[in-house]
Amino acid sequence: MINLPVLVLNQSFEPLNICRVRRAIVLIYQNKAEMVENGMGVIRTVGGDFPVPTVIRLSSIVRRPPRTVRRLTRLEIFKRDHYTCQYCGKETSHLTLDHVMPRYRHGAHTWENIVSACVPCNRRKAGRTPQEANMKLKHEPVKPRVSGLFYIPAYYSNIRKEWQKYLPSAS
Ligand SMILES: [Zn+2]
Repeated sequence: MINLPVLVLNQSFEPLNICRVRRAIVLIYQNKAEMVENGMGVIRTVGGDFPVPTVIRLSSIVRRPPRTVRRLTRLEIFKRDHYTCQYCGKETSHLTLDHVMPRYRHGAHTWENIVSACVPCNRRKAGRTPQEANMKLKHEPVKPRVSGLFYIPAYYSNIRKEWQKYLPSAS
């Protein structure tokens, strides 16, 4: 229970990040945050029973440096594709990068030519283009727009119903 995820909101109620219950309780105890949504149950400590938070709000505003560039990394590709295989649509943490036009055929290492693919789809496609492999892309890969918005993986917002009203509807 102490390791359950907790959504951390900025003082402005904007989602900021995710921490664990343990950390959230420390922040509340130190008056650095308040609980805005109660999760399930209580944690018994020598100091008394604490309700388990699932959403907390910081008591002062945290200013984040504006993100100007999104680096092309595995993780950023997976995030852009919402941890979903772009061929079969399966949401999984076991993803690989697939070059739509294969590298050995001079496919570029760019946002527009790289997608997330599950291992079976990547094996099936092998060194072919989607057309040759008869595998249709779910979405055209694009360079993500720069955004300060914090992205929550869908598997979190699905299991933590209390979070949904604080998350931008786009995610
Ligand atoms: Zn797949």
